[in-house]
Amino acid sequence: DRGEIPGGGVLTIDLGALAANYRQLVALAGGAKVAGVVKADGYGLGAVPVARRLAREGCESFFVAHLAEGLALREALPEAEILVLNGLAPGAEPACAEAGLVPVLNSLAQIEAFAREGVRRGRRLPAAIQVDSGMSRLGLSPAEVERIATDPTRLFGLETVLVMSHLACADTPDHPANAAQLAAFRRLAALLPAARRSLANSAGLFLGPDFRFDLARPGIAVYGGRPFADPAPNPMRPVVRLQGRVIQLRDVPAGAGIGYGHTVTAERPMRLATLGLGYADGWPRRLGNHIAAHIGETALPMVGRVSMDSIILDAGAAELRPGDLVDLIGPAQSLDAVAEAAETISYEILTGLGSRFERHYL
Ligand code: PLP
Repeated sequence: DRGEIPGGGVLTIDLGALAANYRQLVALAGGAKVAGVVKADGYGLGAVPVARRLAREGCESFFVAHLAEGLALREALPEAEILVLNGLAPGAEPACAEAGLVPVLNSLAQIEAFAREGVRRGRRLPAAIQVDSGMSRLGLSPAEVERIATDPTRLFGLETVLVMSHLACADTPDHPANAAQLAAFRRLAALLPAARRSLANSAGLFLGPDFRFDLARPGIAVYGGRPFADPAPNPMRPVVRLQGRVIQLRDVPAGAGIGYGHTVTAERPMRLATLGLGYADGWPRRLGNHIAAHIGETALPMVGRVSMDSIILDAGAAELRPGDLVDLIGPAQSLDAVAEAAETISYEILTGLGSRFERHYL
């Protein structure tokens, strides 16, 4: 409306579908509570609009990765429980306590520093403790958990509201690591006095009742991604639609080289459409020559390499005009199909989608 040339694409986020996914997971969780995982700006879709929508569905707890993400979310949700997964850097304790955020303490040093902050303030500060049940990424080792169990004074100054761990192989239901991590988590969690326990991510919720505990932490399934590694049907509703905008059309003769490196040569006269988005917008460069855009069910193959800000399509099968939108992620091509073609996971596609799209929330 300011007369600007429209951008290269439109990202539509269906918050109604997101809410439906959340309700489906709440049903699956039995009596356990279900938190929202809104780190990395809500998997790239907007932490604040996503968290607000989930709060309307009754979600009371939200996980972010960084303190700065927690501080930003606190402004939007003054009452919610906000947990900071990556823990606290030394010196960050006062800001965390001040904002009423719950750090996920991942080491004895973090526990000690936050407990000291509680003692300094003369009150017990809510905190979560992560234990490493077998992923070898974050959290206390079994030996460190035992040191706390034998000296609970280390927790003075803290109110341990949650003990949690993370599953490494939950997206592969038959993987033996799942049962091993479950057993390790049960044993370690029993050593710590905590109000609640949490183990399951999205895929973990589908592993069965043993994995639910008090609080589940699904991310990708809420955002519509398939929670499993194998090509089993996705039980979740799609949340994201990505459309690219046609910025130019051209007719090229047989023999024309197309795009960087001339990886394709036109074998016949071709009508090409150029879209105004590229790898700088998170559309993977490796998808050049490997995927199509769609108008309805009609596929328009991507030809040549993906550029930083543009993509070339073989537009012969459709009547396109400049300004038209074509689907890149949509009804004919799922988020997971795009991720598979790019040899990555839906998480990486979502979190990579850049800031240059027009965004619409439904
Ligand atoms: N819990 C933790 C500790 C995580 O790191 C993540 C995301 O990677 C999640 C929960 C959510 O996982 P998912 O998106 O697979 O459901």
